[in-house]
Amino acid sequence: MAKVETSYLDKFEFNSIYFELTSRCNARCSYCYNSSTSMGKDIPYDKIIDVMCQAYMINNKTDFVLSGGEPLLHSNIIDIIDFACSNNSDVTLISNAYLLKKMSIYEGLSKCNIQVTIDSLNRVQHDNVRGEGSFDNIVNMQNIVPNLYNKKRILRVNLTRNNTQYINDFCVFAVNNGYTILSFGFLVNQGRGQGNPLVIDYDIEADKKIWFEVIHTIKECSERYKNDIAIERKNCYPKTGCELVNRKKPSMALRIAANGNAFPCLYFNHEKHSLGNIFDNSLIEILKGQRFLDLINLLLYREDNIEGCKQCIWDKQCFKGCPALAFSKYNSFENEISCSFLKETFDKAIRAMRLEI
Ligand code: SF4
Ligand code: SF4
Repeated sequence: MAKVETSYLDKFEFNSIYFELTSRCNARCSYCYNSSTSMGKDIPYDKIIDVMCQAYMINNKTDFVLSGGEPLLHSNIIDIIDFACSNNSDVTLISNAYLLKKMSIYEGLSKCNIQVTIDSLNRVQHDNVRGEGSFDNIVNMQNIVPNLYNKKRILRVNLTRNNTQYINDFCVFAVNNGYTILSFGFLVNQGRGQGNPLVIDYDIEADKKIWFEVIHTIKECSERYKNDIAIERKNCYPKTGCELVNRKKPSMALRIAANGNAFPCLYFNHEKHSLGNIFDNSLIEILKGQRFLDLINLLLYREDNIEGCKQCIWDKQCFKGCPALAFSKYNSFENEISCSFLKETFDKAIRAMRLEI
């Protein structure tokens, strides 16, 4: 099997870090992909600053997403935000909103994009997951952290089996409460999400219908509210292919987990796919190292090795679903994932072509 060389890694543009500053969290979301708990650990302040400085040496426009656990629990969060914002980086804080009011006296918060997640439009149901007061903080975000610097205010909705019928209501809520982006994402089968009945699983035939309906409704809402808010759908979409192995223009979003392991996107989390660890390796060693190259080579040739696809008419066209999620589910890359969704997508494309002809 021909393998790509180190030069493949030069094609990646490095411009952001998704930094999990701590694995501690004061909420206990039943579907947390990271399985965060109150017992986690912070990455020491000096190490975080050291990694940010290394990032600026590689690209002085590096942007940071500060996540966790709950990043506002990090003992040095104010200094970290101050440092990240001092270089004109675009800094996004992902918070469960529980501590926002308590922290609102700190004006550095206004310099960040802020992303919060809403679980339900019902206050009690939401607070049962995120902590009492979290819902009111989300409603009052624009008063608690005034948007003095024209930053993004992102409302995230994790779509579950319980809330897809409220997509339009979430849009109205986001518009009425001053959010600039509404970001829908699907729960994934990882961490506490693994085996969680709330996950809409596009591997299950019956769930495929929900997926297509959700995608259709989000499209409709994007059009309906286009003058009020930007609506986006996150998660690598099963039909577009893995961005890491787009041979012409691969892309990655470096994730640094709270134990220091670095991964090329959010959905890898097994130690053996770590590109290196910030406590042992420099950022350059992580971004240009053999571990990254070995992973890319595994992924590039994964599609040829899936026995279950060899008889399928779409074998040559299909990317066989997200490899990271396939690994989480089957402990191997050599399995397809989201097959029934992919087949339906191909069938729909063919039907649409026939109609055009
Ligand atoms: S591994 Fe999955 S989530 Fe990561 S870039 Fe590829 S398709 Fe996207
Ligand atoms: S549609 Fe399913 S069986 Fe066919 S190639 Fe894709 S993943 Fe494999």
